[in-house]
Amino acid sequence: MTKTEMITEKYNKYVMPTYTRDGIAFVKGKGIKMRDAEGKEYLDFFPGWAVSGIGHCHPKVVSAIRKQAGELIHVSNNYYNELQASLAEKIISHAFPGKVFFANSGAEANECAIKLARKYGSRTKRYEIITMEKSFHGRTMAMITATGQDKVKHGFEPLLEGFKTVSFNDLSAVKNALTEKTVAIMLEPIQGEGGINMAEESYLEGLRRLCDEKDMLLIFDEVQTAMGRTGEMFCYKNYGIQPDIMTLAKSLGGGVPIGATVASTKIADTLTAGAHASTFGGSPIVSAAALATFQAIEEDSLLDNAKNMGEYLKKKLIGLKKEFPFIKEVRGMGLMLGVELSVDGKKIFNECVKRGLLINCTQGNILRIMPPLIVKKSDINKAVSIIKESMVTMQA
Ligand SMILES: *Cc1c(COP(=O)(O)O)cnc(C)c1O
Repeated sequence: MTKTEMITEKYNKYVMPTYTRDGIAFVKGKGIKMRDAEGKEYLDFFPGWAVSGIGHCHPKVVSAIRKQAGELIHVSNNYYNELQASLAEKIISHAFPGKVFFANSGAEANECAIKLARKYGSRTKRYEIITMEKSFHGRTMAMITATGQDKVKHGFEPLLEGFKTVSFNDLSAVKNALTEKTVAIMLEPIQGEGGINMAEESYLEGLRRLCDEKDMLLIFDEVQTAMGRTGEMFCYKNYGIQPDIMTLAKSLGGGVPIGATVASTKIADTLTAGAHASTFGGSPIVSAAALATFQAIEEDSLLDNAKNMGEYLKKKLIGLKKEFPFIKEVRGMGLMLGVELSVDGKKIFNECVKRGLLINCTQGNILRIMPPLIVKKSDINKAVSIIKESMVTMQA
């Protein structure tokens, strides 16, 4: 029995079968490389669903965690800890004036955004939130309600009241869904799980104007798009349109579990003492890891690298279109790219994995390619040649 088979057997016995897993057990990650339990190496162009955004085990993150582990791992939120304060300050310095709440995941960061919006609306008896088709906001009861994909909702009804889903990039659909009870509009500026669907600038401008006119809150779920993924620290900066609430998670902690809800000054004190909490939120060890992640992005100019390498990768992917007519479109921003196909994407995904390249396939026919911000030209050349070989197998 191989090591992987032993591990798989334990999973089958003891771990709930909630995931489709791809038959590989990983034991080590360093930068853009991964190694599995059988010693095979992989180039990782989809590091942990964008969690390891600056690469696996970044030396700055590793040393921050090591140092903090010997000082204080956890302290409860009825006391202060300097690292949480410094992380909030750091996030605000890159975002907009306001305040931060810390949790442990994307879904929780979004829960806080919804609770904040409802609390804000409670003064005027408003509670309805508009969300988008093909969105993804997490797996808690509130977030499967908010998510605009039926597959996450089946079997869990009744869902929460007060959510409406409309088609993405359609301002008039939002206007038609408005009632006197609407308090917020929530969306991802680029839908990740939905297939790298980018918001149009005029659409976001329209939403911003609508929210200003009607005293509604614009909520950007930047759980996947933040921390340099699109070439700016936060994706909204590419559009120049600022939300009232922004949620963060995935790569914020350099690999450790973290979620954060950022609220602008106007609404930052809406949730008062006792209104919301998270036992683990903003713990010293996690805050230290997130501060180190910011430090890596700043000191190693990773935003510039994301922009430059993103352009290079996008151009190379577009280049494949000539050879493979089943490529319908290459889209995205920075290092958040999608390749839409008219054939089964899962087959190409499998061929890539066989050849030692990790990517993702979403919605059945969209390859999602999101290498870490540290990616180099040579990595891209190698990855694209593997994608090309994998696509050749589709023509046979
Ligand atoms: C992954 C993701 C979430 C959910 O995050 P969890 O940490 O799994 O709860 C929410 N929103 C977006 C945009 C995501 O990509």
